[in-house]
Amino acid sequence: MSVLIIAEQQQSCLDEATLSAVSAGRQLGEVDILIAGHNVADIAVQAQQISGVRKVLLADASVYAHVLAETLAPLVVQLADSYSHIVAAATSFGKNLLPRVAALLDCAPVSDVTAIIDTQTFVRPIYAGNALQTVRCEQAKQLLTIRTTAFALAEITGGEAVIENIAAVAAPQLSRFIERSLTKSEHPELTTAKIVVSGGRGLGSAENFAALLNPLADTLNAAIGASRAAVDADYAPNDYQVGQTGKIVAPDLYIAIGVSGAIQHLAGMKDSKVIVAINKDAEAPIFKVADYGLVADLNTAVPELIQQIKAIIH
Ligand SMILES: Cc1cc2nc3c(=O)[nH]c(=O)nc-3n(C[C@H](O)[C@H](O)[C@H](O)COP(=O)(O)OP(=O)(O)OC[C@H]3O[C@@H](n4cnc5c(N)ncnc54)[C@H](O)[C@@H]3O)c2cc1C
Repeated sequence: MSVLIIAEQQQSCLDEATLSAVSAGRQLGEVDILIAGHNVADIAVQAQQISGVRKVLLADASVYAHVLAETLAPLVVQLADSYSHIVAAATSFGKNLLPRVAALLDCAPVSDVTAIIDTQTFVRPIYAGNALQTVRCEQAKQLLTIRTTAFALAEITGGEAVIENIAAVAAPQLSRFIERSLTKSEHPELTTAKIVVSGGRGLGSAENFAALLNPLADTLNAAIGASRAAVDADYAPNDYQVGQTGKIVAPDLYIAIGVSGAIQHLAGMKDSKVIVAINKDAEAPIFKVADYGLVADLNTAVPELIQQIKAIIH
């Protein structure tokens, strides 16, 4: 079996999601990594060092500067003949790319894989994570997105992969890059942070969301997340959303503040190692998954919590 991993990169380094995809790929066969971008030779050198990687395919061309899924898909399709499996992380990038590749190859992709039983059998969550489905897929080529929280990060050490330069592939000019607007944050990235402080509609306003969660996140060096209700009410930007239609996180510590715990929210955070909930309603469903619960008004509890943590740290 030979496996092609589609790498993601950010600010000139490999995204951690790629390292999870490599771990998944290693369970399936020999792993090659595709790095597509512009001026990304350094990233290829990084990828070369990941243990267990056979080959790094480097498509370094201006056409891949913004790595649009529409541009990248024909390149992956051209490489597909040599691989039994094509794997990407189930991130916004992977979820955008893989279905396009699958359609072009006339294959059914298997999305959000959380466990690999064998080269044709995969486990994936359904019904917002309330059930796990085991899928056996007998097509000749398997296209998978993997849930990053379910696979350990491959280490960027000990590898001796060769780097092979490959040419760009012509793509239909039906879409073009206009701009990328990213939320600037001093805090760690949400999907990889060890601690996540997450706010819900209970925060009441964007001002209160920032005034209470920023200092708590600063104190704990945590990322900030939000429920969909908080995002819809403009308390927090869209890319903070945790849940079924947001990001999937599994940090060491998840602190849910003013979040009721709807199943769609739990789908994104219930695999967190320790869950703390602060909510004034003792019946809130979040307490069913919480390891520690505080029934209190968040407006007094959060400032007190910050004070207590600071007292312990200093
Ligand atoms: C198809 C679909 C996909 C969805 N995807 C997502 C998703 O990805 N992520 C997501 O989060 N949701 C998602 N939702 C929405 C979800 O169903 C809930 O509506 C949402 O999670 C509720 O957000 P919340 O807990 O912030 O708000 P609410 O349910 O309004 O809860 C607010 C909580 O704050 C508490 N509170 C209020 N004031 C205070 C106070 N002063 N002190 C302490 N506690 C207080 C309340 O007791 C309450 O429990 C989705 C829904 C659908 C239908």
